[in-house]
Amino acid sequence: MKPCVLDMELVNSRLSDGNLAAIKLENNPNMNIEEILDLNIESSRVLMTPIQLKSQLPLTTTAAKTVLQGRQELQKILDGKDSRKFIIVGPCSIHDPKAAEDYAKKLKALAEKVKDKLLIVMRVYFEKPRTTVGWKGSINDPDMDGSFNMQKGLLTARSLLIKIAEIGLPVATEALDPITPQYLAELVSWSAIGARTIESQTHREMASGLSMPVGFKNSTDGNIQVALNAIQSSRIPHNFLGLDQKGQISTFKTKGNPYGHLILRGGDRQPNFDAATVTRAETKLKDLNLPQTIVIDCSHGNSYKNHKLQASVLENILQQIADGNQSIVGMMLESNLHEGNQQIPQNLEELEYGVSVTDKCIGWEETEKIILSAHEKLGADRNITLYNCGMVVSGIPVRNLLTTKG
Ligand code: PEP
Ligand code: MN
Repeated sequence: MKPCVLDMELVNSRLSDGNLAAIKLENNPNMNIEEILDLNIESSRVLMTPIQLKSQLPLTTTAAKTVLQGRQELQKILDGKDSRKFIIVGPCSIHDPKAAEDYAKKLKALAEKVKDKLLIVMRVYFEKPRTTVGWKGSINDPDMDGSFNMQKGLLTARSLLIKIAEIGLPVATEALDPITPQYLAELVSWSAIGARTIESQTHREMASGLSMPVGFKNSTDGNIQVALNAIQSSRIPHNFLGLDQKGQISTFKTKGNPYGHLILRGGDRQPNFDAATVTRAETKLKDLNLPQTIVIDCSHGNSYKNHKLQASVLENILQQIADGNQSIVGMMLESNLHEGNQQIPQNLEELEYGVSVTDKCIGWEETEKIILSAHEKLGADRNITLYNCGMVVSGIPVRNLLTTKG
């Protein structure tokens, strides 16, 4: 027998009834493989395949156009061919599709008002990585009661993604589980690899094959190098195991993702959005021959997890841009219909509508106010281009003025 070739005749003769129990240990009919396999697995359940989910909830032309346009516009910004900035904004996590849809409608109206200078992308995060334990998001446990109905979670997630794309908003998410993209990824325009999985080879492999730009976060302790390692790794092709659209375990070879970029999200002890850290990150990117493109997350470690500080972080970033920064291409805000957060109550009827069940968010009024003000401030540079005479105008380096659309 050649161990490197699958001998189907032998396999079929041993797998008489298709079950593992049929495989008796050699010379010992009383013992079988199940005594040492999957000892800590309580149960498993066959799930619909990605292609089955897609046939029930197919992509619509309008939705596909939104996704494509979102990805293309993000790529242009990352390539420096579009001088606008992008803002990834929305709830820390989605737990109520109705509230998410209400939020999306408001955000779309705002996106239209600022689209000449800002590309608005909605955070639609279904998967939550936890530091220790806690609710892991609405794909894992959509009913938030420990019933873990993941089939329902995937159906609900896909249906919401289609609705938001039809509203006309591109969507951002965190790519956490390596299988879920097969069910949902064609509806997503931007993905993040989070601070807790940034060193994971599995996530770098996944990112190398994703179809959209991917932002890589510094780790929770503030280490930026691990995100730079991830960007380098995801730019090259990888070979790994995964599931295809029919749910068949397959080997995948990726092409590598050229649109990886750094996200500064602050660390446990201190923020990292300040101009000096941004300049150091730029230098590191340059030394590694990577595009100098940086997104700043105004929430998480950059606001000490205090949502009320997000506005001042954004303000600081806008000032850096006004002062001539060229590397900051986007910002992230955690925002919901209403500010703050809430514990998941025993009685789910007590949930407050439009309030986060994970990280604290700013409310809608503040979101609208600070995005409109960002729009105004970004505009301030542009008028000056008319008077640009090849020198420094009002302390703004000419290279910045030249790249701003009038
Ligand atoms: C988040 O975006 O909600 C999140 C968990 O981010 P991070 O990975 O930066 O903690
Ligand atoms: Mn969060």
